[in-house]
Amino acid sequence: MTDDDDGVDADAGTHPTDERAGDPEVPADPEHESEIPEDHPRYQSLLTRHRIERGVDLGITSKQGLIAEGRGEAFDYLLGEETIPSADAAARAAAAHLLLADHAVLSVNGNVAALVPGEIVDLAAATGADIEVNLFNRTEERMEAIAEHLREHGASEVKGLTADGRIPGLSHERAKVDADGIGDADVVVVPLEDGDRAEALGAMGKTEIVIDLNPMSRSAQVAAVPVVDNIIRAVPNVTRHAEELADAGDEELREVVEGFDAEAALADAERAIREGDLD
Ligand code: ATP
Repeated sequence: MTDDDDGVDADAGTHPTDERAGDPEVPADPEHESEIPEDHPRYQSLLTRHRIERGVDLGITSKQGLIAEGRGEAFDYLLGEETIPSADAAARAAAAHLLLADHAVLSVNGNVAALVPGEIVDLAAATGADIEVNLFNRTEERMEAIAEHLREHGASEVKGLTADGRIPGLSHERAKVDADGIGDADVVVVPLEDGDRAEALGAMGKTEIVIDLNPMSRSAQVAAVPVVDNIIRAVPNVTRHAEELADAGDEELREVVEGFDAEAALADAERAIREGDLD
């Protein structure tokens, strides 16, 4: 690993006594993400950290979310911070599922809201899906803050606040969903979902599309479509495929769905991580 790969060094330029302060290779703690140099070798990682940190400041992301992000980043590093072909195939299958769905819902937690708020709104628009806020550590304050953040990024309707439905088999707070949202959905996109909830949603007969950088996580393992990719690349990629498939008939969409092999995609991602096809 290089020096700027640990959590401390991203802030290095803010410390005047640090010998690298002023080094153009080490961006100073940016006020705005446009200040992160796009040609920096760790651009995506710095952008992700910046958005997550902002999410915590805004009361959208929990401190647990920071830790989850760290775990994801390690996998992304090993994947070469790029969308591998099997993840692209998964994104296309995800798009086909969403277009075939009777009622698709995109589930948004604190990390998703911080990292890809506008991109989630775009995906909902491209597929006709609903957006629902769902939190592992649910507080009304954070639910409201996330819903407001999504509205600021263009969402017209955000579900999750009614919480009049339940996922069977989970404890009270974690079981809450909207009856006319995830409760009613046949296809759900659950990025960065906790394994228990992913399993319980699958047991309800819903088709699950999971976005998770860890192919060994329980969520990825139980998904009909595991997209092993960073959410900041995966969500726009599913949208791009949905736009490309917008005029496809049901038969063509079903072929895309049936041509995708979840187990093979997971095995491919795990191989890429273990073997490290890094340049
Ligand atoms: P599980 O319960 O499914 O076995 P877990 O306990 O590892 O998994 P959590 O810690 O609840 O899961 O959630 C973090 C998950 O989200 C990790 O699997 C991590 O790889 C993934 N993750 C974190 N950040 C990102 C990101 N930016 N893009 C995609 N996945 C991410």
